[in-house]
Amino acid sequence: MNEMDGFTTPKEIALLEMLSLVYEEMDLDAIEERFVDLTAEIFDFDRVGLFFTKHRKGVIQGKLCKGFNPGVISSLEIPICSDFLLTQPLVTGFPYFSDGQDQDDVHTRKIELRNFALIPIVNKKRLSCWQIKKCAETTCPAYDKKWLRCWLVPGTRCGDIPAEDCAHKEEVCRECEVYAQQDIDAVEGVLVVDNSLSGRPISREDVTLLSIIAHAVGVSINNAKVFSRTLREAIRDELTGLYNRRFFNERLLDEVDRCRRYGGTFSLLICDIDHFKEVNDNFGHPMGDKVLVQVAEVLRDNIRSSDMVARYGGEEFALLLLNTDKKLARSLAEQLRRTLAGTLFQEINGRQVTASFGVATFSDDSISFEGLVAKADRALYLAKTQGRNQVITL
Ligand code: GH3
Ligand code: MG
Ligand code: MG
Repeated sequence: MNEMDGFTTPKEIALLEMLSLVYEEMDLDAIEERFVDLTAEIFDFDRVGLFFTKHRKGVIQGKLCKGFNPGVISSLEIPICSDFLLTQPLVTGFPYFSDGQDQDDVHTRKIELRNFALIPIVNKKRLSCWQIKKCAETTCPAYDKKWLRCWLVPGTRCGDIPAEDCAHKEEVCRECEVYAQQDIDAVEGVLVVDNSLSGRPISREDVTLLSIIAHAVGVSINNAKVFSRTLREAIRDELTGLYNRRFFNERLLDEVDRCRRYGGTFSLLICDIDHFKEVNDNFGHPMGDKVLVQVAEVLRDNIRSSDMVARYGGEEFALLLLNTDKKLARSLAEQLRRTLAGTLFQEINGRQVTASFGVATFSDDSISFEGLVAKADRALYLAKTQGRNQVITL
């Protein structure tokens, strides 16, 4: 028996696909693209648009669409607040249905929305008023509500807010700490579904279903972000953003294997800042850190796109120069050395910083990972003992 047998309509099968997307996909762009595509496909809307949250700026920005003009969608950047229709669902936590009277909103007018719904994409439930205020008024209608935002609940008993009319209540509630505590981290974006072209009604059932899926998609988007951040942190050095030693060594091993198997050459450069201890001693460790960041930038900005640079240790950097023989490696290292020595470092009163370089080349110096690192280290040691600020090949 087929596991799909219990699901008969195309809508049900597509919904299952949507859910598997949520559970299995780890790529942020893929999640968002499939979400928009499947929404358009399953629910047969005229137009679908996705706006994502820029958390640091507190705005949403148009990203993906079907049926809309992509340039117009991506040009929209809207502050998250209840004044704008498109971001209102992120404040209330509820989907919004157009009532045909909302033409005066500047953004919906720009994308010619008339018959539409807006669905919030959130990744977690936000704290309710009674949790934020540690309120013990158990007879209040907002008490114990987990999802409903309190300014939408008539007859609440907080302070002297008169409370029957929701629209008026929201105005009063704007002054409240609960309203101000919009947890921007919890909102991932807004989905716009629109039937303005065909005029077909948008059903409440469809929007409810989409809201549930949008919540799962919100969780999935957040997971994808955490996953990619973790991946990045696993291979990058925190201070300089360069690759770390472990990742560099893996790439170096790969290259050793590749050249052993298929032939070819490459060079390894190890570079160590000269008298760096004096920088720390004279200007302090935090300034030393800034110098390391700037040295990393100089190296990154002055290598070819096929080269790779990593922070190999404290004030030591390693470079992998693919397809580069000893002569070329030497001249590239010499260029880097000169560029670095010619750079003024503002953090340390415009002084200069120099570095010494050791070079090892496959297969001239060794055909093993360990042999190459040992040779580059030995060359670096000679560069130090022979006066620093120089490149040594063996
Ligand atoms: P040499 O020319 O022989 O390489 O001299 P040096 O002073 O650069 O070498 P030494 O090995 O004596 O000192 C390295 C210094 O680098 C000491 C250490 O505190 C500093 N260092 C290592 N990692 C960091 C870091 O992450 N931040 C800062 N600010 N300093 C660091
Ligand atoms: Mg040093
Ligand atoms: Mg050192």
